[in-house]
Amino acid sequence: MKIICVGRNYVAHARELNNDIPDEPVLFMKPDSALLRNNDPFYIPDWSNDVHHEIELIVRIKKLGKNIEKKFAQRYYDEIGIGIDFTARDVQNYLKDKGLPWEKSKSFDHSAMICPEFVPIESLPDRNAIQFRLEINGKTVQEGNSALMIFPIDDIISNVSKYFTLKIGDLIYTGTPAGVGPVKIGDRMEGYLEGEKKFDFWIK
Ligand code: ZN
Repeated sequence: MKIICVGRNYVAHARELNNDIPDEPVLFMKPDSALLRNNDPFYIPDWSNDVHHEIELIVRIKKLGKNIEKKFAQRYYDEIGIGIDFTARDVQNYLKDKGLPWEKSKSFDHSAMICPEFVPIESLPDRNAIQFRLEINGKTVQEGNSALMIFPIDDIISNVSKYFTLKIGDLIYTGTPAGVGPVKIGDRMEGYLEGEKKFDFWIK
């Protein structure tokens, strides 16, 4: 399986990092070795001093697809989850400044935290306005609503599948809302989807 991530999919987040609003989804990938599951702790790597949390909605692909038209995109997923795209911001800024690829800062081991259980899209109150949030040590630091995505899920699936064949089990991280920031040892990370806790783990 592969993990495809969308960058800059919320206006307020693009602005907080001084990025332009994209006219096509910004895509990057993580290898399967990036997964962090089962509420296992996240260990801050010793080569970064500024690892940021980015909570994101995650779509799991359930059907093989290539060149998927937007109007058919819903046939390719029926479950959603949340997780964190951990980002070594100091390394990413260095690489961006040099015009180099981002992988070291974005795709390192355990940089793709994923909640233990996904939920059926049908069980959500509104599939076009999915609410999620991240609490650190009991305080809300990021709040998102999929209605505010620059590229909604169906557009992402259509765009991604132009370049990369989607396979069963592939994961798409759909971008983070504003409020990203550093994590530190001892932080407790709790993620909520439509008010229900979906993950709870520690930074070590
Ligand atoms: Zn992200």
